[in-house]
This record gives sequence, structure tokens and C-alpha cells, in this order.
Amino acid sequence: MTLPALAPRSDIVAMLDRLVAFDTTSRNSNLALIDMAAETLSRLGAEIRLTWNDSVTKANLFATLGPADRPGIVLSGHTDVVPVDGQAWSSDPFHLDNRDGLLYGRGTADMKGFLAAALAFAPDFAACPLAMPIHFALSYDEEIGCIGVRRLLDDLAGLEVRPRLCIVGEPTEMTVVSGHKGKKSVRCEVLGHECHSALNDQGVNAVEIAAEIVARLRAMQRRLRETGPFDSGYRPPYTTVHTGVIKGGTALNIVPGECSFEFEIRNLPRHDPDGLMAEIRYWAEELLPEMRARSSRAGIIFDENNSTAGLDMDANDPGVRLVQSLAGDTGTAFVSYTTEAGLFQHSGIPAVVCGPGNIAQAHKADEFVSLDQLARCESFLGRLLDYATNPEPGRF
Ligand SMILES: [Zn+2]
Repeated sequence: MTLPALAPRSDIVAMLDRLVAFDTTSRNSNLALIDMAAETLSRLGAEIRLTWNDSVTKANLFATLGPADRPGIVLSGHTDVVPVDGQAWSSDPFHLDNRDGLLYGRGTADMKGFLAAALAFAPDFAACPLAMPIHFALSYDEEIGCIGVRRLLDDLAGLEVRPRLCIVGEPTEMTVVSGHKGKKSVRCEVLGHECHSALNDQGVNAVEIAAEIVARLRAMQRRLRETGPFDSGYRPPYTTVHTGVIKGGTALNIVPGECSFEFEIRNLPRHDPDGLMAEIRYWAEELLPEMRARSSRAGIIFDENNSTAGLDMDANDPGVRLVQSLAGDTGTAFVSYTTEAGLFQHSGIPAVVCGPGNIAQAHKADEFVSLDQLARCESFLGRLLDYATNPEPGRF
């Protein structure tokens, strides 16, 4: 059954127009957007907490409307977007363009559409006698490894009253996502010993050592694919291992002294990636004696530069049930990409992913969110407003 297309309130579209106009590509500052959101929310009486990056060029915002002395519900989204470099857009990506009911612009799906709807609803939340607080969490640097939100979560860890639930509005077409994979990104640096290739018995070939490790990672993937662990809710239903970048060597007649590569492990939430990392480090230990016999400076260094926890909410968790009732969705789904929800759950705040738009449009040229999806998000927030004003006893 196809539901009829709906249209959202004009203030949601107007807010999206403002958000898209901020070029918050992760390499840029997000402060202009954060200032606008902080001003909008503080004018409504919200308490604002900001946390910053080291160079104070980016900030997370955490705002609270309503009674801060009891556990509330967080509406969470990242402010940064991926670059448009090299993409063929049909219109200016930083200017919202409405064509046939689809709103085009960088970040419309991922995930300024949700932020626009949440911020447009702030006056509604402020005008009602809330029985529980509604929080707004806007983060920086999500697209480059969920970096910013970690500082926001550290800050929240010090609060006496912690939120009871976080709704992360990544694009799920307003379906309820209760699980996602985790991710570990690793850089490996192989230090060999450079020499003339004719005398390769005196050198340590860093490219070949790196290739051996990469080949073993590929074998590890094959093993995981064939023997699991498996979770049929995910596609693919096992932990994935992938090498994405490799760099090494200068000329064919030189034994390369250095080679680096980057790989990632995207683990099922119940599959601990540290066990796989221990296995990978053991391979390096096996390779080292032969390398060191030729050169004392030879080495293999792993830099686990980024880990994001998976999300693993029980389908019967009251928070999941609440979001289902707000979204008018009876099921739950799992996704393979990571979001900040895993980090919220890991820090003790139950989290669910549910937001307007489709991940298929994210990160591409001509990214869009439909008016229909924003209207569904509006209905969701309207039901949240009803609930936060008058929670049914025993419901959550
Ligand atoms: Zn996103």
C-alpha cells in the first residue's frame, strides 16, 4: 500500500533552507550554525551547554527545554556534512531547491532535515507544560568518525540527571532502527629497510610485508563470511574487514623502506572487534623476527585511530516501543552503517535511530529529502510533544 504524499509545515522547510545554507562540510567550522541554533533555543528559555574541539573552531550544542530535574528525551543529529568536491550537482548544493516535492541540497537527508524539523518544533515544546525535558544534541565531525559527540557525551556523564532516551535522526525513512554495526578504523605503518633492489638480501621490503598482512585480512574476511558469527538481521550478516588505502615504494629498483595501509572492521554489535585486532597484532609478531634480523629499525605499528561502538537495543526496550509508537512503525530494523546512537548507548543512554529521508541519497550529488518524509517527521514530533506533555502512566 502506498500512503498519499503529505506536506510539512512551512517553518520546517524554512529552517531547512537556513541550515543547508551553512556550508558545514566537516573540514569547516560549524559555529555559524551552532550560534543560530543556540540563539533560537535560548530565546525560548532553553539551557545551553557547549563543548568544543581543541582549536575552538567547532562546537557541540546540548540544549534543554522543560524540567531539567528529571530524565528526558534527546533529539540528536550531527551538523556536519560530507564534501561536494567532484560531484555533479544540478543546483547549488548549499541552496535548498524544491523540485517536484523533493528538496535538494547537501545534508537534506543526512541529516539537516531532521534537525530542521526538531528546531522548528522547539517553540511548540517551549509553549507546552512538559512533564519531561526535551533535549537537543547537535554535534560536529560525525562524518569523519563520530568525533565530536564523544565530548558531548563526556560532558553529559557529569550530569546528575541523565536522559532516558536518545533519538538519532539519521535517515531511515522514519522506520525504527534498533541496531547497527560498530566500526574500528586502523592505520598500519610498516617500517622496512631501503636498499638497491639488486641487493634485496640486505633490505626489508615494506610493501611485501604490508601485502602479507593485507592478504591475511582478506583471509580473515573469508573466514568470517563462511563461519560467522552471523546475525541475519544485518546485510551482510557477518562482521566485515576491508583494506581501503595502501601507499608504499618509490621506484621499481629500490627495495621500499616504508609502506602504510588503512583497514576497517565493521563488527556485528555482539562481535567484539578487539579479539580480531589481537589476532592481527599476533600476525605482526610472527613477521617481526625475520625483519629485525636484517634491520633493527624494522617494525610494524598499528594505530587504532577510531572506534565507534555498535548499537544493540532490545526490541522490547521501552524506548524502542515508544519510538515505534511515535513513528507508527511496528517493527525494528538493523543497518550496517554506524551512527552516534552506538556511542549514546555505550555511554548509558538508550538510543534508537529514526529520521526522515533515505540513506541511499546521502553523500551523493543531488541529495534530497522529500516533503512527504518531512511531513512524517512532523507527525512524529507532534506525537512526541503529546507524549512529553501528557505521558500515559506505565507507557515508558
Ligand atoms: Zn549522518
